[in-house]
Amino acid sequence: MQDDAHMILILNSAIEHARKSPMYRNNLQDFGPIASLEEFAQFPLTTKNDLRDSYPYANLAVDSKEVIEVHTTSGTTGKPTVSFLTKKDIELTKKYISKAWRNFGINEESKVQFIMSYGLFSGAALNTYAIQDLGALVIPSGIQPTEKQVEIIKDFGVDTIVATPSYYLWLYDYLKKNDIDPSELGLKVGIAAGEVYSDELKQRIGDLLKIRVYDHYGLCEVNTGIIYECSVCGNMAVIKDYIYAEVVHPETNDPMPLGEYGELVLTATMKEASPILRYKTGDSVAILNRSSTCEGCFGSTLVTRVKGRLDDTVFYKGLLISPHEIRDFIVLKIHPLTIGGIKVQISTGEDDIIHEIRVVISISSGKVGDDFISSLEHSLYTQSKVHIKIELVDQSYFGDQTAAKSKLVEYVTR
Ligand SMILES: [Zn+2]
Repeated sequence: MQDDAHMILILNSAIEHARKSPMYRNNLQDFGPIASLEEFAQFPLTTKNDLRDSYPYANLAVDSKEVIEVHTTSGTTGKPTVSFLTKKDIELTKKYISKAWRNFGINEESKVQFIMSYGLFSGAALNTYAIQDLGALVIPSGIQPTEKQVEIIKDFGVDTIVATPSYYLWLYDYLKKNDIDPSELGLKVGIAAGEVYSDELKQRIGDLLKIRVYDHYGLCEVNTGIIYECSVCGNMAVIKDYIYAEVVHPETNDPMPLGEYGELVLTATMKEASPILRYKTGDSVAILNRSSTCEGCFGSTLVTRVKGRLDDTVFYKGLLISPHEIRDFIVLKIHPLTIGGIKVQISTGEDDIIHEIRVVISISSGKVGDDFISSLEHSLYTQSKVHIKIELVDQSYFGDQTAAKSKLVEYVTR
C-alpha cells in the first residue's frame, strides 16, 4: 500500500505535466488528480492514432527550444509517431535505462556492439547513452555486412552485442559458412530485441552462439529499453518508478487479473517533452507480480515476455493464431538451414473471414525437398491444430528484403 501511495504521487505529477501538451489538455479536461490507482485506470487510454493525429508537434509539452533530440517510429503504416526529448529526458534515460544494462552485467570494462540502425530509431541512440553512462564502450556499428560486424567483434574484443533475434541466426549462418567456431568470437552476452520471439528461439540462439541471451523491451512512444529480462530471476522487470504498467482486455479495456494475458498499457511517469499516459502498446503480456522480491529487480512490476502483437494475432477456425509463433516454429524446425525470407500471408474474402493462412519461405543456403516441406506442414498442424500451407520460393520473391528486415504478416484479399 505504501508502494501505491508512492506511485499515486508520481502519477499525479505526470498527469499535471501532461496537461501542458495540446493533446492531453484536450483529452484530460474532465479528469482531476487521482486518489487511487483504480481511479487512474479510468483515465482515457492513448492510442497510436491519437499520436498520429498529433503529428508533428501536438504532443509537445515544453517550449520547442528546450527540445534537443527527436525520434520517430518508421511510419510504414501511416504517419510516424514522434517522441521529443529535452536535456532532462536524456538525463533520466541515462539514470533509469542504465539499470537494465547494469542488470545485464554491463560495467566500465564492457564492450558493447550495437548492430541496429541508428537514425530516427530511438532504440540504438538512447540505449547507447544509457550504456555509456555505466562507463562501457559502445561500438555503434549499425547496419553493415555481417563480415564487417564479425571483424569488429574480433578486432575490438567485443563481449556483448545487441541485435534483432533474426540477426543472431543470420550471424550463426555466416560463421558456419566460414568455418568460424562461435566461441572464437569471445562473445558472452547477446541482447535480442526489436521483434517478438519465442522462448524456444531465445534458447536456440544462446545454444548456437554459446552466449547468454536477454530480452529487452521498449518502444519509441514510451521509451526504449524500459522492460528488461532480469539476470537473477529471469522475469521481465518494468523499470521501477520510471514506468507504470497495466494490462487490460484489448477490447473492453477492463483491467486483467494478475497472470492473465491482455494488452500492455504503459505510462512514462517522468517524460518531459512528450508525456505519455496509458499508452496501448498492442503487445500481449500478463502481469506476474506487482512488486518483485528478487534482489536483481527488487520492487519492480514483473511481466511475462511479449507473446505476440495483438494486431497480428488472428482467429482462424476458432483458434487464436500468432504469426510470430508460426515463424519461430518453422525457423527452429528448418535449422541448421537458414531462412532467407519469410512471410505469413493471411487471405481473407470480401466478407473479412479468413480463408487461408499460408507461409512463404526462401532458404538462403542449401536445399530442402518437397518431402521435407510436407513433413514440416504436418508438424505445424500437430502444433497449431490448423492446416497451414508452406510454400518454398526463390529468394528473389523477397527482393532485397531479408527475414530480418521485412514485415512478417501480409494480408491478401481474394
Ligand atoms: Zn529479478
